[in-house]
Amino acid sequence: MTTAHIRPEILAAIKNTIVPEDKTFGRALFPVIAAATYRNGTWSDLEIKLDTEHAVSAGSVVVQYGQSIFEGMKAYRVTQDIPQIFRPYDHAKRFQRSADRLCMPHVPEELFVSAVKKIADLYTDLIPREHNSALYVRPALFGDDYSLEITPSAGYSFTVHVAPTVPFSVNMKSVLIERENTRAAVGGTGGVKAAGNYAASFLSVQRARSVGCATSIWLDPIEHRYVEELSLMNFFIVKDEKLYTPELTKSFLPGLTRQSILQMANHLGIETVEQPIDINELVADLKKGREIEAFSSGTAAVISPIKSFKEIDGQEFVVGTEPGPVTSKLRAALVDIQEGRAEDLFGWMQNVK
Ligand SMILES: *Cc1c(COP(=O)(O)O)cnc(C)c1O
Repeated sequence: MTTAHIRPEILAAIKNTIVPEDKTFGRALFPVIAAATYRNGTWSDLEIKLDTEHAVSAGSVVVQYGQSIFEGMKAYRVTQDIPQIFRPYDHAKRFQRSADRLCMPHVPEELFVSAVKKIADLYTDLIPREHNSALYVRPALFGDDYSLEITPSAGYSFTVHVAPTVPFSVNMKSVLIERENTRAAVGGTGGVKAAGNYAASFLSVQRARSVGCATSIWLDPIEHRYVEELSLMNFFIVKDEKLYTPELTKSFLPGLTRQSILQMANHLGIETVEQPIDINELVADLKKGREIEAFSSGTAAVISPIKSFKEIDGQEFVVGTEPGPVTSKLRAALVDIQEGRAEDLFGWMQNVK
């Protein structure tokens, strides 16, 4: 698609977009989106339009039954002349796996990648250039049929929204050990980015906030003993100079940041171990004062160091007050590639044009 196909009033809307003062993650959504629709078994061409032009009925399958998935990635322009997106083809593949689980049609890889590139390209001038900031890109796919029938929707919308992110702070965070609620069941949708997973996690995040934690850490759905992930992030610890992360189960999300960290760690000569992490063992190690680093990983914050684990009754097990050396080294190595200061060793970055 060339810019010549975009209506003049849409180009004007992009040009006149005002970046809101409040850039709390997700609040500063821009008005213009990329979109395509699936009708009678085929995808339309990509369209650049206002979000407000994309009507969805309150009687649609997505509203009534939650048939919806999403992705999240970032476009960077810190040192780059042409913005670059981190691993868009891998996000496209994961989007297809999520679609399979929810009985939705695949968005072809080319349609997905051209949509995320196009919208980031059109908003190039509003991509923040400060260290630790980027344009957040949010593809979504949902059943938009006007129907209460309990079957997969026949029609779908594919949309891509964008929002600037504030420079991410590397503040140490506390996390609640969620021993009561479960995020995902065995055989459920925890391994894909299904919208309903997030609605189901809100209650736990509220519990976490009530005891001064940023979020909760989820345990496995059977024994409530092995760490799975955080609500939008995967989990790592560093112990005896080795980097540990839970081995993939089907009940938590295989993060691309997680996979990138493992790849980078191997490249840096850090030994990596994917195996179950027992929360009780971890707590016992912290009580003994063993030297441990803990962090979470995800597109939004890349790597976010964990200060402490808390129980709902307020008991706290402190990891540390500063990001550990391995945490900092991995974070810098990843962010240097994303922000264009280091060689793109693994072919992760794609120019938007
Ligand atoms: C998106 C997400 C992650 C992190 O995935 P990235 O590809 O690294 O952004 C982890 N857990 C959940 C539940 C997620 O939705």
